Amino acid sequence: MRHWPLLAAIGFALMSGCAHGVTPAKSMPEQNTPDARTVFYCNGLKVVQDLLEVNEYNLQYKLCEPFTEVKYITIHNTANKATAQNERDYLNRRRDNVSISFHFAVDENEAIQIMPLFMHAWHAGDGRGEGNMNSIAIEICRSTLYDGDLYPRAEENAVKLAAYLLYIYRLDVDDLRMHYNWSGKKCPHRIIEDNRWDEFKMRVAASLENLKRPR
Ligand SMILES: [Zn+2]
Repeated sequence: MRHWPLLAAIGFALMSGCAHGVTPAKSMPEQNTPDARTVFYCNGLKVVQDLLEVNEYNLQYKLCEPFTEVKYITIHNTANKATAQNERDYLNRRRDNVSISFHFAVDENEAIQIMPLFMHAWHAGDGRGEGNMNSIAIEICRSTLYDGDLYPRAEENAVKLAAYLLYIYRLDVDDLRMHYNWSGKKCPHRIIEDNRWDEFKMRVAASLENLKRPR
């Protein structure tokens, strides 16, 4: 079945859940099926849903509890040169007993969705504060590439994705946050270095207005 990882994750989150220490059923497959990737387009951006594997480790450290409410969209930079797919694959393989996850990684070509949107992620450094518990995380890739246009293109795709998420959650541009706002970490470092947060928000606002325009 094409969407079994999502359905399996829903089942685990709602019926048992790693937060309660329930061991996943032995019958649960350990890896996504090869056709688990789903491609869709939103706001002119290619989004590939390539969810983390539903296994015991990922359920404990990455895929955890359902959101009670989505109130914010949080912007990050990856602080490396990797693609969005590489970010997903690296996180999927991580086994260092650190609680870390995010919802989307965005590069110059596409966004990769790695988490179901009903689950919160561990990305904001604020424990069980609103950053982790009430915001969807976008990682903007390629952020240590200072030459060429890969980073600016990735950031522009993040503008499209952020606007789309604000639109579907009926949020506003003032509901955008930087990782910095939650924990003081210098992230997204490219936007902070260039003092461009207000400019970034204005670009998202313009994209959001375009989405709201009657067709
Ligand atoms: Zn961050």
